[in-house]
Parts: sequence; C-alpha cells; structure tokens
Amino acid sequence: MAVNTTDWTDPIACPFCGDELASPGAGFVDHIHESETCEAEFEFWRENISGDVAGGWAG
Ligand SMILES: [Zn+2]
Repeated sequence: MAVNTTDWTDPIACPFCGDELASPGAGFVDHIHESETCEAEFEFWRENISGDVAGGWAG
C-alpha cells in the first residue's frame, strides 16, 4: 500500500488503513497498538523518515 505521508491531511484518520481515530495523535498511537498491520506499516514508515524527522514521533 502506497502512503504519501507528506500528504497526510486528515489527522483523525489512520493513513494506513483509513480508520477513523478516537483523537488526533494519541488516538493514532492507540490505533497502531491495536492493529498489527498498521503498526508494521508505521514502523516501516518511521524507519524510512527517521533521518529526516529525528524526534518527530515519540512512542
Ligand atoms: Zn490503521
């Protein structure tokens, strides 16, 4: 699944599966803990951008 996270314009929806989140930011953290697929996608994405956005995501 191709996700252009630079184009992540909807902070209350998971960019990986499109699910609505309980709340922006914190809701996403809860969501990826509940969804193994999205967690894996997020880890992969975070590794890819870690050089560009160091410290942008605390988890
Ligand atoms: Zn998701």
